[in-house]
Formats: sequence, C-alpha cells, structure tokens
Amino acid sequence: MTESTRPLAGRTAIVTGSTSGIGLGIARALADAGAAILLNGFGDAKAIDELVQELSTSAGVKVVHCPADMSKPAEIAGMFDFAADKLGGGVDILVNNAGIQHVAAIEDFPIEKWDAIIAINLSAVFHATRAALPGMKARKWGRIVNIASAHGLVASPFKSAYVAAKHGVLGFTKTTALEGAEFGITANAICPGYVWTPLVEKQIDDQARTHGIDREAVIRDVMLAPQAAKRFTTVEEIGALALLLCGPNGQSFNGAALPIDNGWTAR
Ligand code: NAD
Repeated sequence: MTESTRPLAGRTAIVTGSTSGIGLGIARALADAGAAILLNGFGDAKAIDELVQELSTSAGVKVVHCPADMSKPAEIAGMFDFAADKLGGGVDILVNNAGIQHVAAIEDFPIEKWDAIIAINLSAVFHATRAALPGMKARKWGRIVNIASAHGLVASPFKSAYVAAKHGVLGFTKTTALEGAEFGITANAICPGYVWTPLVEKQIDDQARTHGIDREAVIRDVMLAPQAAKRFTTVEEIGALALLLCGPNGQSFNGAALPIDNGWTAR
C-alpha cells in the first residue's frame, strides 16, 4: 500500500489478543493501512519484541505491546492509559479479538473454564468498549470490530461457554452500534468459520479426545463438515474484512454480524 492509499494514516488502533492468529492478521492489515497499533496478548517476550520491531518496520507505523490480561477489568483500563501514553491521542479503532476455547460436555465443563471464557470472550468486550467510547464520542469517530464466530450464530456440541459468549458478543455489538451511531461510531462483528491458528490446532487435539476420534477425522467430520467449502479461512482474509469495516468504504456497516465461514451458516 502506498502512502497515498493508506486510509488509516493518523489513526490509532488497539487489537486485543494480537500476538498470534487472527488478531495478528488484523493488526498487520490495519498497520499496513497506516494505523499505529497497540498489540496485546501473551507469548515469549523476545518473540513479541521481534514482532513489534518487524511490524513497525514493515508497515512504517508506531507499534507497541501491552500484555494486559483481558480477564481483568483493571488491566483493560490500564491498557487504554498505556495506549494514550505510548501512542498519544485517543484510541480510534478497537478490535476485540482475544479469545479462548474449551471443549467438554456441559455436565463435565469445569466451572473455572466457564468463568474464564465468559470473562475473556464476552465481558472483556464490554470493559474495553466502555473504556473506548468516551474518547470516540468526543472525537465523533470510532470503529469497533468484535471478533465473534460462526458459533455466535449457530451452536456445536461441547462448546457451551464459547457458544454462549459469542452469541452474547453479537447482542452487545448491536447495542453498541445503536448507542454509537449518532457520534460517528460503528460497531460490527466478524463471524469466522474455521481459521488455521494456534487456538484451532489445540482444539483439534481436545476434540479428538472428547469425540474419541483421530485428528484427521476431527478436521474432516467435525470442523469442516458443516462448511459448504471444505477449507480453512486465512488470517489475511479476516484482516482484509476488518480493514474494510474500519476504512472509508465501511461506514454503512453498523450492528452487522458478518459470517466469513465458507457457507457454514448458510445451511
Ligand atoms: P489464538 O490462540 O491464535 O490467539 C489468541 C490471542 O489471544 C493470543 O494473542 C493470546 O495471547 C491472546 N489471549 C488469550 N488469552 C488472553 C487474555 N486473557 N488476555 C489477553 N490476551 C489473551 O486464537 P485465534 O484463533 O486467533 O482466535 C482469535 C479470536 O478469533 C478469538 O476470539 C476466537 O474465538 C475467534 N475465532 C477463531 C476462529 C478460528 O477458527 N481460529 C474461528 C472463529 C472465531
């Protein structure tokens, strides 16, 4: 992308859970479009330092990392102070992406796993949006992109907490859209089918155990079976959709839940 086609130049974005997978794909797309980026998430400190350097150099934007734990409201608030301090100005774009998964039958579902999934996949979306809105309203511009899931639209067995959290994210996204519209703020949800990331690789092992089948059977008969096209979506495809929602051609999307799922929820 050349300087003249960098539609997010001068904007600042927080992308939660962006040290790997979909969040990193989105952070790259927004950085390439000119936005300064706060990366959030966990991982090896040296690898994250290298990632910050690489992204900042390749995109020619300011990039910082804040390891705030999205299950802790005080750390979410601290992440916004960190962004103001290190990137200056306010947060124009918030991508609520951090998420975890656990696969187990409802009667065996560990209560602490339920609580963690609701905290990170749903409550953190509320806490971060709550922190972002006052500045966006004051500046009369804001873009909020919530990474939900096809599991925000349909259920699968053994994913009760995840399905409940992602359905909740869609309701919260619509409410945010209604409250933000008069201030030039949009809020939309992206609902991916399966995307090949570390989260999915772990899930294959968990599902193999839960269903008592091998990895290939999980991929073929559990994951890709409900999708019309039997392929994994790439993080670059999700990044491109997030960029559309945040860029100049995205302003009519508001309160939408956008499947990017190879036909899964068309059934
Ligand atoms: P991933 O495991 O590759 O990345 C998750 C990121 O979240 C990592 O950066 C991790 O460090 C971070 N994270 C985890 N817990 C955190 C916490 N408590 N605080 C801060 N950061 C935390 O996963 P992914 O597949 O890229 O998933 C990203 C989002 O996309 C999730 O919300 C997930 O539900 C959603 N999603 C994924 C798929 C898929 O097939 N991969 C499909 C639909 C939706």
